[in-house]
Amino acid sequence: MRCRRIQRKLSPYLDCELSPRATEAVRRHVETCAACRRALEETSALSGLLDAMEEMTPRPFFVRRVMAAAEAPVPAQPVVTRLKPALSRIAAVLVTAVGLWLGATLGGSLRAEQAVDDAFADELALDLEVAALSATPPGSLAEVYLDLVAESE
Ligand SMILES: [Zn+2]
Repeated sequence: MRCRRIQRKLSPYLDCELSPRATEAVRRHVETCAACRRALEETSALSGLLDAMEEMTPRPFFVRRVMAAAEAPVPAQPVVTRLKPALSRIAAVLVTAVGLWLGATLGGSLRAEQAVDDAFADELALDLEVAALSATPPGSLAEVYLDLVAESE
């Protein structure tokens, strides 16, 4: 197959390593064959990338420095960093305990206040009932009259 032969010569063609006759053959084929033209563009782009990579030269002793860094012992972590998980668990337990204590304390005092209020309300209701049944309910004209009579005696 002619295309396969041409495509094998694309890289040497780009590097100007072909004979003048082979160079002319590749050039003419690429002008008429879309597949080989595309292959030539791809080869050209790849060759440009490879040229750019060859231009990157590592600084002296690059490999030795990388290996030394890889083999260096890892510096010890501070105590706080190592204890962090345990400390956060202790903090969670403390927050929960304080929350429960606050809930129990406040809930208990609110219940006690409610009990006092209930007792007072019962007493007041009893007083009102008794007062309503009496002949002279508090604040009534009859009470004022009887008070005046008692004072004048
Ligand atoms: Zn071709």
